[in-house]
Amino acid sequence: MDPGYIVGVDLGGTKILTARCDLAGQVLAQARLPTLAEEGPDAVLARIFATIQTVLAGCDPAHLRGVGIGSPGTLDNATGTVFDPPNLPGWRVVPLRDRVRAWLQAEVGRTARVEVGNDANAAALGEYRFGAGTAYPGLRHMVYMTVSTGIGGGVISDGRLLMGRRGMAGEVGHITVDVHGPRCACGNIGCLEVLAAGPAIARAGAALVSRGRAPFLAQLVGGEPARVTSELVEQAARQDDPDACALMAQIGHYLGVGVVTMIHLFNPELICIGGGVSKAGALIFDPLIQTVDALALPAMRAGVDIVPARLGDRAGVLGAAALVL
Ligand SMILES: [Zn+2]
Repeated sequence: MDPGYIVGVDLGGTKILTARCDLAGQVLAQARLPTLAEEGPDAVLARIFATIQTVLAGCDPAHLRGVGIGSPGTLDNATGTVFDPPNLPGWRVVPLRDRVRAWLQAEVGRTARVEVGNDANAAALGEYRFGAGTAYPGLRHMVYMTVSTGIGGGVISDGRLLMGRRGMAGEVGHITVDVHGPRCACGNIGCLEVLAAGPAIARAGAALVSRGRAPFLAQLVGGEPARVTSELVEQAARQDDPDACALMAQIGHYLGVGVVTMIHLFNPELICIGGGVSKAGALIFDPLIQTVDALALPAMRAGVDIVPARLGDRAGVLGAAALVL
């Protein structure tokens, strides 16, 4: 067996998750530290280095094939530079790839390959190489969508991660699904993210409680709309709260509209949906699939499987590692 190993770093706004894995995506060691982004780039970089050091402990550096980093926000994947991610304050322009490379050389004594990619794109690659994609031998075309606090995604086209000019292709969260919809934080109107991510579910649930609707949800939050979360809306829907069920169906419908666009643009064989909201299962997947069946071009809809993601919280870190393969 190939003794080579790779390191993935999932850099998030709240935590840094780093894993060392073999070339088949089997995690061999893992380390986690809080990001503490408010302390600025140097402090965060020091914590990234500390997690890498932890997962490399006791390993032969000669077998290190590379380090992949999934980073939020805008980046230039050709140079590995990160620009102003919204959840990493103070990161104006950070040459992440070069900093990690220099550290590896100084501390590990290796000039290893370092790749930086958009976090959602990395997760797409993770599910393709090591997750849901593994159930489809010969799979070449897959679209990944993650739905939690935000909505992100990535596209595998002809076996390769579609990067775009700056490694940000596949921003499924910011396609418009309602031209009369609300303004999104990105500036666009009626984006999938502003209508169907976790905060949108919580907002719509709170509005129901304010209007005296959603009886079971209201009971769960003691009648206080401000306490509604997307998880509680899901819980109320599972208890057959009719308004919570209708709300989840609406969310599934919006996500389905987004999936239809991805099917029409990328002609995939597989759509893989992850993130916290996807854990609602049939409450989301049934209306989503109904919408896709109703709206997608039949010739493109035929033969596309729509499945939940498999890797859970590990998609990001395994995808980051896969960036160097
Ligand atoms: Zn948007």
